[in-house]
Amino acid sequence: MRVLLVEDDPMVGDAVRKGLMGAGFTVDWVRDGHAAELALEANQYAACVLDLGLPRRDGMEVLHALRKRENALPVIVVTARDAVSDRIAGLNAGADDYLTKPFDLDELIARIRALMRRNAGRAQSLMQCGELTLDPEKREVRLAGETVPLSARELALLEILIAKPGAVLSREALEERLFGWGEEPASNALEVHLHNLRRKLGPERIRNVRGVGYKVVP
Ligand code: CA
Repeated sequence: MRVLLVEDDPMVGDAVRKGLMGAGFTVDWVRDGHAAELALEANQYAACVLDLGLPRRDGMEVLHALRKRENALPVIVVTARDAVSDRIAGLNAGADDYLTKPFDLDELIARIRALMRRNAGRAQSLMQCGELTLDPEKREVRLAGETVPLSARELALLEILIAKPGAVLSREALEERLFGWGEEPASNALEVHLHNLRRKLGPERIRNVRGVGYKVVP
């Protein structure tokens, strides 16, 4: 799942980026409010981690503009401002959650996952499609109860597909969600990951809808 990280502090940003990547997210990191707006307009993200005190455009303005465009992207505000009034203003501006610095990375990750779950209308953490289950926290996939070893990228790809069982996702949509900036995958990288997934899970589970895209079916 691709996450936009908006943070101008290099040390905090680097730590959060690494933490999120370690948890299996694809991360685009921008360091000012203007770059955040451009990224949000150009890409489909699963969630956004937003600092408020930013150069060029304040995080609160970025959030206002996003909601004005009726973009319902889950946003978690992460800031050094810890006054209750700031928190209320952030939530009123359309933040879905709020963390005060310094914060625990595991808590941030758990909260992002909770927001994504809520956004997808899932009550449980476990993602399921028939006999296939994916545990986003443990980074574990099981087929009929048996663990299936997947690479980080294969697991990320399956997570994107299984988030919407039965829905067909185009090659472009999958690539956009799977690869972040600065990652220039070989032109056939997606096909290779899909091929491996189908080999490990069975071609009947990851279906290719000719000319349209791919879907996961029970
Ligand atoms: Ca800041």
